Order: sequence, then C-alpha cells, then structure tokens
Amino acid sequence: MPPVDVLVIGGGLAGWRAAEAAVKAGASVALVANGAGNSPDIHAINVPVGADDSVDLFMEDTLRSGRGGCERELVEVLCRESVKLAEEFPFDRNQDGSYKLLQPLGCSVPRCVSIDHKIGAWALAKIRRELDGKVQLIKGRVTALSFNSQLSAFNFQLGDVDAAGEVRSVVIATGGWCGKYEFSDNPPELRGDGIDMAVKLGAATRDMDAVQYEPTVALAPEQLRCIPVITTMLFEGATFRNKDGEEFLRDKHANKDEVSRAIFAEVKAGRGVDGGVWFDATGVPAEILDSVYADTVGRYAAAGVDIHKEPMLVAPAPHTSLGGLVIDARCRVLKPDGSPIPGLFAAGEVVGGIHGFNRIGGNAGTETLVFGKIAGEQAAKGELG
Ligand SMILES: Cc1cc2nc3c(=O)[nH]c(=O)nc-3n(C[C@H](O)[C@H](O)[C@H](O)COP(=O)(O)OP(=O)(O)OC[C@H]3O[C@@H](n4cnc5c(N)ncnc54)[C@H](O)[C@@H]3O)c2cc1C
Repeated sequence: MPPVDVLVIGGGLAGWRAAEAAVKAGASVALVANGAGNSPDIHAINVPVGADDSVDLFMEDTLRSGRGGCERELVEVLCRESVKLAEEFPFDRNQDGSYKLLQPLGCSVPRCVSIDHKIGAWALAKIRRELDGKVQLIKGRVTALSFNSQLSAFNFQLGDVDAAGEVRSVVIATGGWCGKYEFSDNPPELRGDGIDMAVKLGAATRDMDAVQYEPTVALAPEQLRCIPVITTMLFEGATFRNKDGEEFLRDKHANKDEVSRAIFAEVKAGRGVDGGVWFDATGVPAEILDSVYADTVGRYAAAGVDIHKEPMLVAPAPHTSLGGLVIDARCRVLKPDGSPIPGLFAAGEVVGGIHGFNRIGGNAGTETLVFGKIAGEQAAKGELG
C-alpha cells in the first residue's frame, strides 16, 4: 500500500465520517473494513431541535441515563456538537416546517430525527458518494496494528498478509463487540478487534463489562430472529404482554435497561413465552405503523405476521457495547496514565465513557457523526491531533 496520512479501520458511520473529515482537511486517506457493521441499521439519531428541547436537557438526559458512568466532557461535546448536524443534514420535517421527531427510551422529550427513517444508510451513502475516488478502499479484516518507531509510521496486517505501509495516523472505528454473542442483533464481524489492537499499543479501556441490551429483539419467526423492533413504538401505543396476554411495564419513561430487566423478570417468574414476551403494536394507529414503521410492517408481513393484528415475540439481546477505549475530547486514544498514544485516534462504538452504563436510544448514531468528524480532523493533523 502506498504511504497515506490517515488509515481508518472500520467502514461504519464513525469510520466514514472520520475519512470524510480527514479528506476535507487535506489528508490522504485509506479505509479498511471487513463488513458494513451496525451503522446501516441506524433508524434515527438524537439532535435537540424540538421546541421544548435544549442542549442542556439533552445533556441532563444522557448523564442521568448513564447512571454515573458517563465522562462529562465527552457528553458535553456530544450534545453541543449535535446541534450542528441540523445545519448539515436535511432531517425530515412536518408540513408546518417543524422537525418530525420520535421519542426514544431515556429522553424526556421527542428528540430523534431521521431521513426517510434510515438516517444511517442515508448518511453512509452520501459520504461514500462524496468520497468516491478520494479514499483508498481496502476490503479485509485487520488482524494486527504495530508502530515502527524508525519510520514513525504504523504498519498493519490484513488477515495473514503483512500490509506494511507508512501510515502517519490511525483512526480506530471498528465498532463494538456484541457480534460475539449468539443471540444478538449485531453482525458476527463485530468482535472488538479494534480494542484488542489498541490495547497491544498501550491503550487504556473502561467499563468492559457494560453492554446495552435492546429489549425488543425478535425471537421468532425464525427468519426474523435477531432483528430488533424499534422501542419508540412504546410512545405510540405499543405494549408488553406476558403469556396470559396481561400488560406489564406501563412506565413509558423507563430506560432500555429497566425495560430489559422487567422482561427478564417476567420470563423468570414463568410468565414468558419461549424465553421472551409479546411486544404488541396493535394499539399503534395504522397510519403511523404504515408510515413511520413501514419497514417493520413489511418485514413481518413477509414472514406471515400482520403486526396490525398480531403481537411480536421478542426478548432482550446484547445490542451496543458501552465500554471500550478511553479517549479525550479530541478523540486521542489514551494510555492508563492519561497521556495520548501519538497518532492513534478512535471514534464510535469502540469507545467507552460516552453513554455510561445505559445508552439513550438514538445517541449512538449522534456519537458516530460527532466524534467520527473530530477523529478525522485530528488524525489529519498528525501525531497528537
Ligand atoms: C439493529 C440495530 C439498530 C440500531 N439502530 C440505532 C438507531 O436507530 N439509532 C442509534 O443511535 N443507534 C442505533 N444502533 C446502534 C448503532 O448502530 C451503532 O452503535 C453504530 O452504528 C456504531 O457505529 P460504528 O461506526 O462505531 O461501528 P459499526 O457501524 O458497527 O462499524 C464498524 C466497522 O468496523 C469494521 N471492522 C470491525 N473489526 C474490523 C477489523 N478487524 N478489520 C477491519 N474492519 C473491521 C466492521 O466491518 C464495520 O465496517 C443500532 C444498532 C443495531 C444493531
């Protein structure tokens, strides 16, 4: 590989966003990925653009939901910088010009914006189009990353092949590790590789036992197993029911972790169905189901389930890694003593400390866009960002 200024490892939204920012800053960039990751599935992201919302309220919700595990400085960056996304992305609006907003679990007001209900795929396609021909794309799994102090450059290994090349800075954007679990909505290539590689270069990690469960992941029918159903439906009339059809968990302001715990408690008490419970969207108005949740309606219809009339069988499943690499507000990867590792940056789900021990729905997508951009800009500057 010819020498490049910035190597991005990971082809999700954090990685492509970093590549975009680095190219804009004038750096030569290569991006290596072994799959698409979770980002194409991002339905909506949090941006505090509602009439009753503010950066302060967004911060308050994020810190409260994180249950004491959030790094305040990173949350400040997330919430403050998120507002700029509204200048950059044409989020869907209502006829009166106001933003179309969904309310995710953990937010005290509706805050999730989207573009055609597929902001992840939309943003990825946009960035990739803009960077066409400007980024060297490499397909494959990076299996090792090392630093050659004589050359002042990183080398990496692709599968079994040593792809040594001179790379000034590296952005690790390899996502989380929930693909390691058998029942998870993540693809299997998400195994925490980037964390392993960075640790071998001296990086610190945090909260490696913290994993967010998505409460509503399909158990059946078989062809839909492991595909999640979005929980914003709870604010539009969906309910949880046990094997006897009784509604439980009426608190619409519960967080994802509380909802998952309530489901596990119901199953443990013998009131579950095949290890899960019913998620019943029959109370959601048909016009909302058919517009906002058309993908879910279509997916279930193709599997022979009409969710206007029948409930969905779901169970909580590992969904997002909350722990990961320790970074500062410039996305520099830090060592256990708090000093940065020269040339090493990280963004996205591979990072810990932003969501604490419980992530608000919609905050992960915002994180990839906000911190991916910072990581790319800093990596383009070189050694210490
Ligand atoms: C089904 C689903 C729906 C979701 N919906 C939402 C939502 O609506 N809103 C929201 O905010 N969040 C949502 N999330 C969470 C969100 O998708 C992720 O947190 C986010 O996409 C992470 O982005 P990322 O770029 O950090 O990682 P990913 O998008 O997961 O990308 C990681 C990349 O790294 C690559 N990679 C990994 N290891 C290696 C290696 N060794 N060598 C080379 N490449 C490697 C992968 O192939 C991939 O390209 C959802 C998650 C899931 C699973």
